[in-house]
Amino acid sequence: MTKRNVGNRQKRLPVSVVTGGAGFLGSHLVDLLLARGHRVVAIDNFVTGTVDNIAHLAGHRRFRFIQQDVTEFIFLNEPVDYVWHFASPASPVDYLELPIQTLKVGSLGTHKALGLAKHKGARFLLASTSEVYGDPLVHPQTEDYWGNVNAIGPRGCYDESKRFAEALTMAYHQEHGVATRIARIFNTYGPRMRLQDGRVVPAFIGQALKHRPMTVFGDGRQTRSFCYCADLVEGIYRLMLSAHAQPVNLGNPHEITVAEFAEEIRRLTRSRSRLVFRPLPQDDPRQRQPDITRARRWLKWAPRVGLPEGLAATIADFKKRVSAGGV
Ligand code: UDP
Repeated sequence: MTKRNVGNRQKRLPVSVVTGGAGFLGSHLVDLLLARGHRVVAIDNFVTGTVDNIAHLAGHRRFRFIQQDVTEFIFLNEPVDYVWHFASPASPVDYLELPIQTLKVGSLGTHKALGLAKHKGARFLLASTSEVYGDPLVHPQTEDYWGNVNAIGPRGCYDESKRFAEALTMAYHQEHGVATRIARIFNTYGPRMRLQDGRVVPAFIGQALKHRPMTVFGDGRQTRSFCYCADLVEGIYRLMLSAHAQPVNLGNPHEITVAEFAEEIRRLTRSRSRLVFRPLPQDDPRQRQPDITRARRWLKWAPRVGLPEGLAATIADFKKRVSAGGV
């Protein structure tokens, strides 16, 4: 970068590109970046994202949307400071339906997003996942655990595409000197999750609000740890601004069984639903809890929003959308 460019960069507003910017997490990140003074270009092909998530930004001076598949060449005729690569199906139901698109966005899409960052001299952050740990044999999961993944199982398309994306990100860092960051995101929930995306939060809330049976898979003793979206994007932002190229777990370490989670949602919605047990999907991880020591130390970050508070906001959003006839 020339001295002149550095000078220009200091004067103008930071420019961020968010792939998957119309998705659940991508759109929350867009909101946070706009609130922190960035110009934001969101890119999405609406495969799992939706225009509803960004409709409130129509006409915003610092926001621009491009409808594009990020596996195609990304052309932007302007400076870029940060590339946040969030495009990907992320629900097991979605990536089971879209295995090739999932593999393509994790591989070709990550390649294009990294290429953009390299060309523009921008920082790059990969939205990776706790799925890189597979069905973990180490608990809680630390970043130096290599994982237990079935490459050819039903989750393989997602897990391996994200593992490949991490490898490619590290290669761009080492070979091309791109300033890269890798966030390993654990289960996150909040307003704007698709009502029908198949993940446990929308499934249970939707069922509870309609007083329909709540479908607990397996015996419900498998565990997850749920992080509220506002906490998560704050961690993402801090990671991008940090100096750490090594992966960082981001999630809420509060671990709960799926059956307890169903009970909690039933209580908060005052639902008359009963729990019904359905077969556990193949390769469904038995336990998951992030070790966030690294995030605490490096980013001075920890989640603040507890489950009752986060779920109350999520349930309110779901109620609004259900009564508006959303699916
Ligand atoms: N699950 C469930 N009922 C549902 C949907 C999911 O019991 O209707 C379980 C699922 O088997 C898993 C956990 O909830 O053990 C979290 O599932 P999700 O699809 O949200 O994401 P995952 O953490 O498995 O990627």
